[in-house]
Amino acid sequence: GDVACRINGTAAIDAALAADGLADAAREESPCLGQCDHGAAALVQSVGKPRRTIRATAGAAEPVVVGSTLLRRIGVVDPTSIESYRAAGGFEALHRAHQIGSQEVIDEVSAANLRGRGGAAFPTGFKWQAVADQPNGPKYVVANADESEPGTFKDRVLMEGDPFALVEGLAIAGLATGARKGFIYIRGEYPTAIELLESAIRQTREAGSFGADFDMELRVGAGAYICGEETALFNSLEGFRGEPRQKPPFPTTHGLFQQPTAINNPETLLNVLDIVTDGGAAYAASGTEGSNGQKLFCLSGHVTAPGTYEVEFGPTLREMIDVAGGVTGGELKAVLLGGAAGSFVGPDLFDMPLTMEATRAAGASLGSGVIMAFNEHTDFEAVCIRIAEFFKNESCGQCVPCRVGAVRQHELLIRSKGKVMNGELQLLEDMDRVMKDASICGLGHTASTAVRSAISLGLIGAN
Ligand code: SF4
Repeated sequence: GDVACRINGTAAIDAALAADGLADAAREESPCLGQCDHGAAALVQSVGKPRRTIRATAGAAEPVVVGSTLLRRIGVVDPTSIESYRAAGGFEALHRAHQIGSQEVIDEVSAANLRGRGGAAFPTGFKWQAVADQPNGPKYVVANADESEPGTFKDRVLMEGDPFALVEGLAIAGLATGARKGFIYIRGEYPTAIELLESAIRQTREAGSFGADFDMELRVGAGAYICGEETALFNSLEGFRGEPRQKPPFPTTHGLFQQPTAINNPETLLNVLDIVTDGGAAYAASGTEGSNGQKLFCLSGHVTAPGTYEVEFGPTLREMIDVAGGVTGGELKAVLLGGAAGSFVGPDLFDMPLTMEATRAAGASLGSGVIMAFNEHTDFEAVCIRIAEFFKNESCGQCVPCRVGAVRQHELLIRSKGKVMNGELQLLEDMDRVMKDASICGLGHTASTAVRSAISLGLIGAN
């Protein structure tokens, strides 16, 4: 039911379900399943059988950009085989991390100027150092694989194609921070990745590659977008409702089970492998001054070849869309950058470099790397109503501004059919301000961002 699938048309999934003998199955519309590169998609749940995903289109062949780093083993290694991973250089980084020791690993990650790829862009070395410096424990490392932002699917591609690399990256995080236990928290809508990661963890443990001092577990989420917020994720791991906690205190001192915890996005952890192997200085030399290294972007919407694309930081928005084969069905009208929690950008920013510093200066955000393109014939009113509905459904309800504001925003857009009048515009702005000022977490802070950007670009709201 989310935007990328709607753009492609959900009719294709009807045909795919019918071909699978599921024409008469009971159906319920679902939020984004992280399959935006495969047209419309469905998650099939049958009593007594494993979950599985049905995709309307094959999508682009997993697009490995020439010279890519993070994606280089995708389609090359057998994701079910530790031998295959080893033959491709797997576990060399973990071996080297053991040789150079915890502090040296953190120093290399800090020298690399690696920033988190989950959306917040926090310096990874700083985070790891803060956890390592805590005198108390036990400490934990967590991979946040609850990739639920509509339009985001890069971590799924990594985990389905190269699951051992995430296991290795998290083990290095454990070594660096002094944690003896790691968790991978993955969304339940990724059945293939879940199976492959379970197997990768088991094989790595049986091969003795974790060493005597470390182990990890996979935990599967139950369908809540909010559990991708790090403190809600901790609550969920602990067996409580997935509700965000007030910060501070921060996870580096009071994370999982109120203990020092380093939580990182899978893409971030994959970057660590080459940093440890080749050194932080080599990594820092790539990309731009403020955005080092490689970045995965999720191209979807009206583009010829939707998929995960890896580039060294620096190309512009227009160049990235060209890499994905250009726009389909008409001229490019706007791009939703950063997902539902991000913002629409128009032609004045199509030549903006996709770096953290350039997007920040433009008042936008790269978020988790979503580039969802829309052509000139898009029904932006319907798109914005769906985005508002998404936040209404996914608000955890813990604090009033978000719980009520997200509902009122959705109602307002439905009532006005996207043609927001002057008085209503003021109401939207007021609600946005209250949600930003008085909500606990980022969901409330960003629930109006896309809608307001659509209004300011004139995509909706013609009086
Ligand atoms: Fe929950 Fe929304 Fe408050 Fe976040 S801002 S804690 S999602 S009610």
